[in-house]
Amino acid sequence: MEKLLSRFLDYVTTDTQSDPYSKTTPSTEKQWDLAKKLVLELHQIGLQEVSIDENAYIMATLPSNLDKKVPTIGFISHMDTSPDFSGRNVKPQIIKDYDGTDIVLNKTKNIVLSPSYFEDLLQYQGQTLITTDGNTLLGADDKAGIAEIITAMEYLVQHPEIKHGKIRIAFTPDEEIGRGAHKFDVKKFGADWAYTMDGSQVGELEYENFNAASAKIMVKGKSVHPGYAKNKMVNAISIANEFLSLLPLREVPEHTTGMEGFFHVHKLKGEIEKAQIDLIIRDHDAEHFQARKELLVNITEKLNKKHGDCIAVEIEDQYRNMREKVEPVFHIVEIAQEAMESLGIEPIIKPIRGGTDGSQLSFMGLPCPNIFAGGHNFHGKYEYVPLESMEKAVQVIVKICELTASQIK
Ligand SMILES: [Zn+2]
Repeated sequence: MEKLLSRFLDYVTTDTQSDPYSKTTPSTEKQWDLAKKLVLELHQIGLQEVSIDENAYIMATLPSNLDKKVPTIGFISHMDTSPDFSGRNVKPQIIKDYDGTDIVLNKTKNIVLSPSYFEDLLQYQGQTLITTDGNTLLGADDKAGIAEIITAMEYLVQHPEIKHGKIRIAFTPDEEIGRGAHKFDVKKFGADWAYTMDGSQVGELEYENFNAASAKIMVKGKSVHPGYAKNKMVNAISIANEFLSLLPLREVPEHTTGMEGFFHVHKLKGEIEKAQIDLIIRDHDAEHFQARKELLVNITEKLNKKHGDCIAVEIEDQYRNMREKVEPVFHIVEIAQEAMESLGIEPIIKPIRGGTDGSQLSFMGLPCPNIFAGGHNFHGKYEYVPLESMEKAVQVIVKICELTASQIK
């Protein structure tokens, strides 16, 4: 455990920001800096079959120490940090024995991490917090996950009395730009199931995420001199506006929570001749998701009838709810739940209002729930992680390995 913190600090001070506009994998050259470091370290702690491919996907094995055959399980986290906020020159601050008051991240810029705004801080009184200096994100998402997985593997290497099957681990590039799973070789990984260590606070365990699609609504208009436009002009802006008015007004991100789905219009541009609406659709329920897509088609048909064929809609599926892939093998969730409970951690099971690499991997044949890595306030300067939460994640990983071996006959 003593190396957990130094590992984490080493990783977060290595800039690995990904870039959504790049076509390469990894999307940024600098992700290789951390990747190469990790490969060395995996050799050093005594793992086997350490590999890195041309896209910077790292895999390694902790061999089984049992005679009987038990399932091979995996643990996965991502090396890149979000393009939303700078990850260069990360200067982590360590606050020991946190006393529950405001934390000044940056005096000159007057940036304060305050429990009056981020109440979660209060549950970590007396613990060691790692924060930013207010200029960058921290990168606990998901370098906490990497540090936890490596520390857990090292612990198992040093404690052969803990019996476990074959364990596979993987670190991927480009998760933050939605491509972490794209070039993941599920067959080579060869695990029966896996867990991404990419959740937030202690106890989080997630096996449900949104079904997701994006849509473009394109409206064609006809410009005519406004003084002589009666029954001639077709104003694409007005029709786009009418289209929006036919969407359910309350089913938007700012009015929904839990299992409620939504339409989210994130771009609207228009002139008389041409208008375009870009939106995304999110819903945990597959039938409701389908109904939302159909609603867009129905509104299009209705307005086309009314105004003459002037609207075209394009809908593209993005990702699906992993629940349907996890439910048939639900023991993989129960093992994680039991591991947490046996360590005195209360599992927080809730649907993700987003997607994870795990959902893509689940549909690629590797069922993959998500477990907490411990951090809060991802993708910005208020990001922080309690050291104790990372320690708990290490214990959960070790426990899952142990339980998988002892429960499966
Ligand atoms: Zn992440």
